[in-house]
Amino acid sequence: MKAVAVVPGNKNSLHVRADVPEPTPAAGEAVVRVLEAGVCGTDVEIHQGLYGSAPGASPYLVLGHENLGVVETVPAGHGLEEGDLVVATVRRPCDEPCRPCASDQNDMCLTGRFQERGIGGLHGFMSERYSENPRYLVKLPHSLRHTAVLLEPMTIVQKGIEQALRIQERMAWDPRRAVVLGAGPVGILAAAALRMRGYQVTVAALEPEGTFKDLLLDEAGIDYVSTGRTPLSDLKTKLGRIDLVFEATGSTHVVVPAMQLLGPAGVCILSSVTGGTKNLDVDVATWNREMVLGNRLVFGTVNAARRHFEAGVRDLEFAEERLPGWMAKLITRRLPFTDALRALDRTPEDVKTVLEFA
Ligand SMILES: [Zn+2]
Ligand SMILES: [Zn+2]
Repeated sequence: MKAVAVVPGNKNSLHVRADVPEPTPAAGEAVVRVLEAGVCGTDVEIHQGLYGSAPGASPYLVLGHENLGVVETVPAGHGLEEGDLVVATVRRPCDEPCRPCASDQNDMCLTGRFQERGIGGLHGFMSERYSENPRYLVKLPHSLRHTAVLLEPMTIVQKGIEQALRIQERMAWDPRRAVVLGAGPVGILAAAALRMRGYQVTVAALEPEGTFKDLLLDEAGIDYVSTGRTPLSDLKTKLGRIDLVFEATGSTHVVVPAMQLLGPAGVCILSSVTGGTKNLDVDVATWNREMVLGNRLVFGTVNAARRHFEAGVRDLEFAEERLPGWMAKLITRRLPFTDALRALDRTPEDVKTVLEFA
């Protein structure tokens, strides 16, 4: 069968190949026919050879972790049947396994020896078919056929918000205002998920005001501020007390300003995986004083557990109910998977590019 693959560690190695063996499901596994796969920054970085590893002795890695497929065959007893729409989770437990991995919380793995489909140690979903243990398949209603490929990035958001809310149970809290930094897919999905929870949400990003993303957010009742016109440091005076900050820019420059936006007892969610090293001149005394005297909180979050996929399905459904057709507009480009190389070139107007397999 055909698949989109890379040679991990080799720069610009993305290619379409036709010699990938059909999946041979192990006992108890399902076979899924892929409908769509989302392309994200992680895929671009693997294509650039920055990280990624192939399974076992395979000379290539089938790319892709943002996925949508339809069940072709599945053993009985898992609540799934042929024809069901499914999205697979990405991370698989470590070999030990550690306590979180043994408790279906692979996203919180302590050993770092987990594997991730399409990223590290396991083939991804940019192939015509794949096989998988049904415990890693999350079913979606057919009404979500046109947005379901957004579920995986949506789970990053779900986990971040869930963790923030759980941690904030430390106090009587009535959050009103949230700021999301970055207007990529995760930023826009975070803004939508927070808006659905009743927050007044402002997205701050580089793109000028009045462009596609600004208008898209406006339709959902979300404010947009261009950091080209309003520096982040002005946002605090402009907006008043900020209870929650969701950092999703991918930029190291934004990390410290993100924390500094927080109002008293506010919580800052860091979700960008930043490569390389970066030294900044930071006034630690002031930063620490604000953290301590304001009971402020900053935490990092990555990946997601099955329950975040299930919560994401509920949010995608809720969004469709509240604002029919809005979520689908986040998919700004659809290409046949044989054009995968073209999918890597992005314009500032692009939100999510999706490869179509069927
Ligand atoms: Zn991704
Ligand atoms: Zn583990």
